[in-house]
Amino acid sequence: MQNLRFDNRFVGQLPADPESGPRPRQVRDALYSRIVPTPVSAPRLIAHSREVAALLGIEETSVASPVFAHIFAGNTLLDGMQPYAANYGGHQFGHWAGQLGDGRAITLGETINAVGQRWELQLKGAGPTPYSRRADGRAVLRSSVREFLCSEAMFHLGVPTTRALSLVATGEQVMRDMFYDGHPKAEPGAIVCRVAPSFIRFGNFELPAARGDIALLQQLIDFTIRRDFPELHADGHDTINEKRRAEWFAQVCERTASMVAHWMRVGFVHGVMNTDNMSVLGLTIDYGPYGWIDNFDWDWTPNTTDAEGRRYRFGNQPEIAYWNLTCFANALAPAFTSLEPLHAGLQRYVDVYGAAERGNTAAKLGLAESSDEHRGLMQSLYALLQKAEVDMTLFFRALVDVDVHAPTLLPFYHAFYDEAKREQHEPEFHAWLARYATQVRHEDLPPAERHAHMQAVNPRYVIRNYLAQQAIDRAEQGDDAGIHELLDVLRRPYDDQPGREQYAQRRPDWARHRAGCSMLSCSS
Ligand code: AMP
Ligand code: MG
Repeated sequence: MQNLRFDNRFVGQLPADPESGPRPRQVRDALYSRIVPTPVSAPRLIAHSREVAALLGIEETSVASPVFAHIFAGNTLLDGMQPYAANYGGHQFGHWAGQLGDGRAITLGETINAVGQRWELQLKGAGPTPYSRRADGRAVLRSSVREFLCSEAMFHLGVPTTRALSLVATGEQVMRDMFYDGHPKAEPGAIVCRVAPSFIRFGNFELPAARGDIALLQQLIDFTIRRDFPELHADGHDTINEKRRAEWFAQVCERTASMVAHWMRVGFVHGVMNTDNMSVLGLTIDYGPYGWIDNFDWDWTPNTTDAEGRRYRFGNQPEIAYWNLTCFANALAPAFTSLEPLHAGLQRYVDVYGAAERGNTAAKLGLAESSDEHRGLMQSLYALLQKAEVDMTLFFRALVDVDVHAPTLLPFYHAFYDEAKREQHEPEFHAWLARYATQVRHEDLPPAERHAHMQAVNPRYVIRNYLAQQAIDRAEQGDDAGIHELLDVLRRPYDDQPGREQYAQRRPDWARHRAGCSMLSCSS
């Protein structure tokens, strides 16, 4: 690991808080605070991603050495690391929340790999920072397992995401009141090392804008374009004029649209789409009380904190992303002489999301092009899946193999959660399948091609909430094997993996209302 090369541009080029140490405070005129991780008593590596290690040029032999766990628990700094916590604000559940910042995330540095890519290494749960407010800066094992596994699973699904290098147990306990009901309990602590080209969020821009610090806002915009969007000034011109800023904003809109379209394709519900949890790179970021759709339900949210208003429910995600981009646009407005480019960027979101949604429809159904007819077909399918309580992942995967010359519902029976509802809606499903089969026959796509298309977008394996919970239950008993197995299954989500059928089943009944399996709180 001594070969990791650091080039810390964020701390090298942007203004720092003059004070160090974790004293809680409002930090003005600065985009970050220097802070070192708080050492933990007994770091132990639970799991790592060999793909991310390879990306960074870390050998498997180094991963196996005790030094690795020490470094990625925050006990040891490598030469070149310059740890800091970023200062940002955000709109939470629709309201401006003021300064938030990295309350328990500490960036270690920006490393450059063998092919010149920049990767920021960030520990989550590494102890208090000036932004921890009254909280402890730590993370519990259950939420760390969830972030570690899901971010890697998303990558393998082809969804833009931050990555995870390692999951380390701290050997220390953390007090958490899981459902905020006055019953705190000690839980094992853990630290994930997250990896992304950048962890800059919409909220990093919103905070200086809200404080009227336009010079700081401009500085961050130009820095972000230079460091994270090199293609926008590839012509060698180093001046970042308004046109470039406009292109950049449109890029962020485009990437956000594409990210959310992927979420909708695979049935991912982020759970806390606050603007401090939105990456300017269009990466899925901050895995908290996220969840996966089992029975198809536009209205479902895993987040108990949001159970009332369901702002972040599955079907609302495309709208919320747009709302978040308008907050982002408002924050950027002082850096523009006219609002026109910001409106144009928001329109880009609408256009790109619309195109991606049509693409999803065609791809998920295995149809060559996307027409209004197909869109109607998909909408009626979604409505049916919802009212008949059908598993999204299982249904679409079974659709790959449907006999388009004599379609029946039998191969889909395993996707239904309620037999009575299945019987009740069976005639509608038959009608739908007949309509679908006619479309497929009409298009005359070679069957092998149709299968390949559909299999590449309709996963067999997703990290169902109860599967993650089972791995967590085992890990809390000291058995890490469940995490390793699940990680391995999720490496190839689109392949049939004989012998691993138990990972591609409907959610069992016991998991329907169990904490961690269908409902999660923000307490992590
Ligand atoms: P989240 O909803 O997880 O994105 O967190 C919102 C804000 O609360 C961010 O500023 C986090 O850094 C902060 N936060 C959440 N949990 C903790 C914790 N255990 N210790 C310190 N800060 C936290
Ligand atoms: Mg967050």
